[in-house]
Amino acid sequence: VKSKNKNGYRFYTPEFDKETIWLAEVEEKMRNGLPRKEFVLYFQPIIDCSNQTITYFEALCRWHSDDQPNIMPDTFIPIAEQAGLIGSLTTQLLHQACSFIKELDESDIRISFNISATHLQSPDFLAEIKAVFDKENVTPSCFIFEITETVLMQNWKRNVSLLNNLKLMGIEIAIDDFGTGYSSLGYLKQFPVDILKIDREFIRELHHDAKNRIFVGAIVSMASALSLRIVAEGVENKEQASILAEMNCFLQQGYYYAKPLPILKVLRHIGTHSVN
Ligand code: C2E
Ligand code: CA
Ligand code: CA
Ligand code: CA
Repeated sequence: VKSKNKNGYRFYTPEFDKETIWLAEVEEKMRNGLPRKEFVLYFQPIIDCSNQTITYFEALCRWHSDDQPNIMPDTFIPIAEQAGLIGSLTTQLLHQACSFIKELDESDIRISFNISATHLQSPDFLAEIKAVFDKENVTPSCFIFEITETVLMQNWKRNVSLLNNLKLMGIEIAIDDFGTGYSSLGYLKQFPVDILKIDREFIRELHHDAKNRIFVGAIVSMASALSLRIVAEGVENKEQASILAEMNCFLQQGYYYAKPLPILKVLRHIGTHSVN
């Protein structure tokens, strides 16, 4: 786009400037939205389909903003990371997750909480999350932390010791989006991992694609040989659910069972503690 300003100068506005301006606007809105508590956690159950019970919930962030069309976390989390806001966002969300745990009270259901790559690398990470647990007086063993595998491979010496620290606090570790990165299970053995979450990319075509069935089947048997629990993400229909169950993959998450729901809806829903 070429245009003239009032002094008659021509200047050039390439497409990437629009993108830069948009990013700066979103960043600004995030900065303002944080103290206004515009970021809220929704919760999606992970179902044990061998007995149709909720084993735990994954916490997923939503941005409720007045002047912002629906932006999803895939877009705003990277912006928060880049803007240096991920620490304060995560801390705020961890407070919310602790409140939810207190609402759940007796039920000893755990919360699986997403940890961003950038935040994990921050030297303040452990201190920040410990401060939240102390303040809320919630035991960290109510939590599972979901971390993507690519993160672990960078800087892995530090990460092994970091994860060991989390484990000592009682936090379980889940590898998120498993199968999309480059790690081998052998590599993964170095880390104190409890759960593998198979990325929904491999679940989507499960009922149409034999290769995906072989891949998922292999992950499930290796995981069980290593005593890891396995969760299938993005289960959207009955066919996928039964194929997974036949493979002994009973922990499942997806729209077939429930979408991520706001706290009040979840609490209403689990009055009975069962699904369907
Ligand atoms: P993720 O951790 O892999 O989360 C799973 C995503 O799949 C969620 O998208 C969830 O809503 C969606 N999903 C669940 N079941 C189904 C299904 O059956 N079909 C399909 N198509 N999708 C399903 P969402 O909530 O938009 O989050 C996207 C990503 O943003 C997450 O991927 C995670 O990487 C990140 N994220 C979300 N909330 C947080 C958060 O609080 N902190 C951090 N650090 N990252 C977050
Ligand atoms: Ca996740
Ligand atoms: Ca995932
Ligand atoms: Ca993902």
